[in-house]
Amino acid sequence: MDSNAGISARRVSGMGWLWMFCFFHLVSSLEEILLDTTGEMSEIGWTAHPSGGWDEVSVLDDKKRLIRTFEVCNVAEPGQNNWLRTHFIERRGAHRVHVRLHFSVRDCASMRIVASSCKETFTVYYHQSEADTASQELPEWREGPWTKVDTIAADESFSQVDSTGKVVKMNVKVRSFGPLTKRGFYLAFQDSGACMSLVAVQVFFYKCPAVVKGFASFPETFAGGERTSLVESPGTCVPNAEETSMTGSLGVRLHCNGEGEWMVAIGRCTCKAGYQPVDGEQACQGIPSAPRDLSYEIVGSNVLLTWRLPKDLGGRKDVFFNVICKVCPAGSSGRCVRCGDSVQFEPRQVGLTESRVQVSNLLARVQYTFEIQAVNLVTEFSSEAPHYATINVSTSQSVPSAVPMMHQVSRTTTSITLSWPQPDQPNGIILDYQLRYFDKAEDEDNSFTLTSETNMATISNLSPGKIYAFQVRARTAVGYGPYSGKMYFQTLMRGERSEMVQDRLPLIVGSALGGLAFLVIAAIAILAIIFKSKRRETPYTDRLQQYISARGIGAKYYIDPSTYEDPNEAILEFAKEIDVSLIKIEEVIGSGEFGEVCFGRLKHPGKREYTVAIKTLKSGYTDEQRREFLSEASIMGQFEHPNVIHLEGVVTKSRPVMIVTEFMENGSLDSFLRQKEGQFSVLQLVGMLRGIAAGMRYLSDMNYVHRDLAARNILVNSNLVCKVSDFGLSRFLEDDASNPTYTGALGCKIPIRWTAPEAVQYRKFTSSSDVWSYGIVMWEVMSYGERPYWDMSNQDVINAIDQDYRLPPPPDCPTVLHLLMLDCWQKERGQRPKFDQIVSALDKLIRKPSALKATGTGSSRPSQPLLSNSPPDFPSLSNAHEWLDAIKMGCYKENFDQAGLITFDVISHMTLEDIQRIGITLVGHQKKILNSIQLMRVYLNQRETVEV
Ligand code: AMP
Repeated sequence: MDSNAGISARRVSGMGWLWMFCFFHLVSSLEEILLDTTGEMSEIGWTAHPSGGWDEVSVLDDKKRLIRTFEVCNVAEPGQNNWLRTHFIERRGAHRVHVRLHFSVRDCASMRIVASSCKETFTVYYHQSEADTASQELPEWREGPWTKVDTIAADESFSQVDSTGKVVKMNVKVRSFGPLTKRGFYLAFQDSGACMSLVAVQVFFYKCPAVVKGFASFPETFAGGERTSLVESPGTCVPNAEETSMTGSLGVRLHCNGEGEWMVAIGRCTCKAGYQPVDGEQACQGIPSAPRDLSYEIVGSNVLLTWRLPKDLGGRKDVFFNVICKVCPAGSSGRCVRCGDSVQFEPRQVGLTESRVQVSNLLARVQYTFEIQAVNLVTEFSSEAPHYATINVSTSQSVPSAVPMMHQVSRTTTSITLSWPQPDQPNGIILDYQLRYFDKAEDEDNSFTLTSETNMATISNLSPGKIYAFQVRARTAVGYGPYSGKMYFQTLMRGERSEMVQDRLPLIVGSALGGLAFLVIAAIAILAIIFKSKRRETPYTDRLQQYISARGIGAKYYIDPSTYEDPNEAILEFAKEIDVSLIKIEEVIGSGEFGEVCFGRLKHPGKREYTVAIKTLKSGYTDEQRREFLSEASIMGQFEHPNVIHLEGVVTKSRPVMIVTEFMENGSLDSFLRQKEGQFSVLQLVGMLRGIAAGMRYLSDMNYVHRDLAARNILVNSNLVCKVSDFGLSRFLEDDASNPTYTGALGCKIPIRWTAPEAVQYRKFTSSSDVWSYGIVMWEVMSYGERPYWDMSNQDVINAIDQDYRLPPPPDCPTVLHLLMLDCWQKERGQRPKFDQIVSALDKLIRKPSALKATGTGSSRPSQPLLSNSPPDFPSLSNAHEWLDAIKMGCYKENFDQAGLITFDVISHMTLEDIQRIGITLVGHQKKILNSIQLMRVYLNQRETVEV
């Protein structure tokens, strides 16, 4: 048997191959099989006519496998006309099919009894049909309905079989026919008196395979219906290639010949400029574009560079990165030199496959420039230089200095609570502290670490009566500072009385401990509630529901103290009574709604003294006022978070009634920022905003809606930690005509400038309206305590917001922060971000401060600069003097006059430098004038539009 039988793809062999080679290199044609009886072992079942003619028999092939063949051998009788018809064969798109026949024929002369009509040939026919409609009678068994393909003669007939029974002479013949037009066809083999065996029949057609040639791709194409036909196939230029002008309007073409071989190319494509041929003429590839979003992070004394993949990989998958490090010495007027060999790159400097590299051994206080080149294999052959991204990194940023000392706050047999002051030079916002500790008796290498967001931590799981060494270090965005010197503290011996400060829960950071603390509190609360509920049926069941709500363990809801029948019960439940003798009032620091606010000290017996703020309720109060005053404590007492003001307790058993909270050295944020105008880095301001957002995230998780979030209600401690405060229930209830911040009908005062439109219009206060207010706080912080919407009236603010006007970015405010503000001020409250998203966004900025560099109104959002008609009501003002009076800057009339700045047209072009140049030195006044000039420009533009 033919060993090639059944292989469907072949290389064109012999002369044909050489001939094809003249055209192309890649010319393998494909045979698609329509029928193949090779190796068939079960009955094939073709139709024979008449009976006694062709017969299907099983024989053993040369490998001793049973195969099915068709035999006929009626040589003794003349007038033979035996037909064998195949099953219906689907054409499957073929235009011309080929039949390969494996057969053997017995030599007539070698047989003793033969008629003179003995043949050594047979005839092949085909009959086209749209369906498999053949029967025993039809198509008739005569040439009429059949089309003759050929009469096939054996090249070699045989006279005997060998000892194994194998036929010695096997013939293989191929014939083709076409063009075919119907759905399928039958083949028939007519015998006229031969003694032969049809061993295998293969029916197939040729197709030219899909190919890429001359930078164009051509689809798989079936050979034509005639042996000589050439089927034209249009090609498409490969990516990054274009047709040459010679191609003309017909495009690139290739032709498929009758044997399934491509030939005769017309036109071609070539690589576009900047792209190189690869893999012969198969593809055009370019060098990668520059890496994207290159940024750095200073990790300790190292620089971590990260970037994103180039937008365009040049049509390839591989891309590598090389790092070029340059030092730009001060005073070198931009001339930079390559870094020395001492600078090290991890994992390596060239051929990086990942989008990050850590650079170490850099010098301190030096300006470095890093170039990240993107390269691929094409780069080597390209005349184009690799594309790269550049970033400047100054190693002059310093980590915080060492924490000078540590104090023991309390200790038990298994824990020690320590606190420490912040480093003398924080050199940025302190993100957290890392505490390292180990058993003094053991090896220092067995040390443990713990992270704390505040400057206090409780170290648990210690052994009783053991001395431990402690060190702490502060971390800013630049990295960790050095560890403090070692300090030794000892846990209590077993049986010694606990010194844990019971009444002042230490600020435990770390979710596990925090969660545990919460569980204990929740368990106590639940027990208390269950105990109480035995006494009487009260609304407690509702509150119990809130504690064990679907949010599951770890979630705790705020309970509105006004739901208590007796507000004193809320106080008892959530605030601790402090004996007045433990409090020392030292000075008055402010005045609150209900009385003075004082600075003082609190000292529990045997404990360390600490500073507190004391709010007092002025004498002559009504019961209602007392209830409202204390409601703040029952709310505050439910919260425990580093960015929410902490309640120490209340004094209700003596007069005056007091609320005692932790003392915040820098007072309220708005006045603090006004005092420190321009003194903080953007990163420090973002750090403050992060703290406020974290406090608000906690409150919103507790289901508490603040309703009066504003910089005036944020307190700042000596470490610049910001804490949310002011939880009074009363503020929207009292009619206080002296305070214009809170406007509205009696019983419903609203701080218009800070409040979301839906809350102003129909009192819809939610965490999303708190997010709006948070956006205003962001604006207040970034403008160092400027009044939102300046001198505009509340009604103008309401109108402006309704017309989609929003506050513009404060001077020097990073664009990302203004975009975040605009998000907080989305009209649709559902579209505003949630506090947890705000915290993550700010965390990202703190980690990658490079994003804070872009400033100005680069926002493409549908935000418009704030527009106000009055004041200043520009249409009613006719000159610079009137305008300066309207914005209460009349003291500068002379400065404007002397500089010839009289008309709005001229003034509207003034920049900050111009304002400084005419002698206005106070930063606040400069800003006020600049802001008003911005509005003036909007007004002039609008007037122009209207006039046109
Ligand atoms: P309040 O009644 O809460 O608005 O407080 C009035 C003023 O007292 C605030 O604006 C602060 O300046 C000051 N104050 C209130 N609480 C504290 C505190 N815990 N630490 C320091 N100052 C405070």
